[in-house]
Amino acid sequence: MVKILHAKEVSFIWDILNEIPDPEIPVISLVELGVVRGVEWVDTQLQITITPTYSGCPAMRMMEMDIEQSLRKEGITDFKIAMQYHPAWTTDWMSEATKSKLKTYGIAPPQAHTKQRIGVLISDAPTEVACPQCNSVNTKLISEFGSTACKSLMKCNDCLEAFDYFKCI
Ligand SMILES: [Zn+2]
Repeated sequence: MVKILHAKEVSFIWDILNEIPDPEIPVISLVELGVVRGVEWVDTQLQITITPTYSGCPAMRMMEMDIEQSLRKEGITDFKIAMQYHPAWTTDWMSEATKSKLKTYGIAPPQAHTKQRIGVLISDAPTEVACPQCNSVNTKLISEFGSTACKSLMKCNDCLEAFDYFKCI
């Protein structure tokens, strides 16, 4: 069994992980979200390193179970999921392609970059968030918490659509 496992390329494992959708945003995968930090062999055991998005994020346990199930389905049973808390997860780990997927899905992607956010609280309303429907930046914050704790609920003053904004952290 160990031999078979070693024959599988690490990139194949990444491919499997990249098929696992985020439990909250099914259009993006755990890899795209930036939760999966590493796939490597530690002695004879495969280790998958993940970083939680938000501490206490209720979806995290579900993500772990999804990873376990997906790997087992491919016959990979000898592996360990390691949690890595430092460096802390940041929305900067999402690629531009991932952010545009969020937008297509109707969620305004995180806007700021790390250096602009230093000293800014997570709960601070972003200055300019474009509406995912009409691209207008004439939007306002309705509630700091949208459908989940990591999103704010916003509303567009132009097309009047309410939408989720993925907060920057
Ligand atoms: Zn709009």
